[in-house]
Amino acid sequence: MTRSKLAFVSLMISLLFHLTSVGTAEPDMIPWPVGTTLSGQDSSRTLFSSYGTHHIGWDQVPAASGVNFHFGIDIDANTSSTDGCDVVRNVEEGYTCYWFADTLPSGSVQWLFVIGEEQLGSEGWNYQHLDEVNLAYFFTDSLHSVGDSIGIMHPEVSHPHLHFMRSEAPYYSNNAALCNPLDYLVPEATSADGFT
Ligand SMILES: [Zn+2]
Repeated sequence: MTRSKLAFVSLMISLLFHLTSVGTAEPDMIPWPVGTTLSGQDSSRTLFSSYGTHHIGWDQVPAASGVNFHFGIDIDANTSSTDGCDVVRNVEEGYTCYWFADTLPSGSVQWLFVIGEEQLGSEGWNYQHLDEVNLAYFFTDSLHSVGDSIGIMHPEVSHPHLHFMRSEAPYYSNNAALCNPLDYLVPEATSADGFT
């Protein structure tokens, strides 16, 4: 092999390595994203709706199957675990990669945040249906700590809950979830906590 061919091959290999390493980082294990107190994050919670359950408004998986695939988990504000609560907390040290607001039928605004490990990162944990948000989370250059209160579950969402998922940033409605959050939560969800 000539030197230029060798250089080309090594360039292709490094490019391939780069492409396969972008956006495929395995998430770390995380505590639960809710808790009235910090220690509340160490309890499994009741799910209102689980990952993959039929959920109108989400993409059909497989395509055109008629089954709308829920790309995250919904944690019930009325969780029956140790402290029924609506306080949403950060699960991983990182930065706000994306945030978004939209208006509920009631006229109130609800917020969405994607928090990732890297500043201006391309993926992270995604928290939806928030109210009374922590203003620090609007700044993309401030490092957020595990356990910070990000906001509360919006009381005017029908059946108040946190929608929690792993997603790309920026997030567009119905872009595919990168994984099942239940595979990363500690402690593991149990059937007694509504995991289906
Ligand atoms: Zn949901």
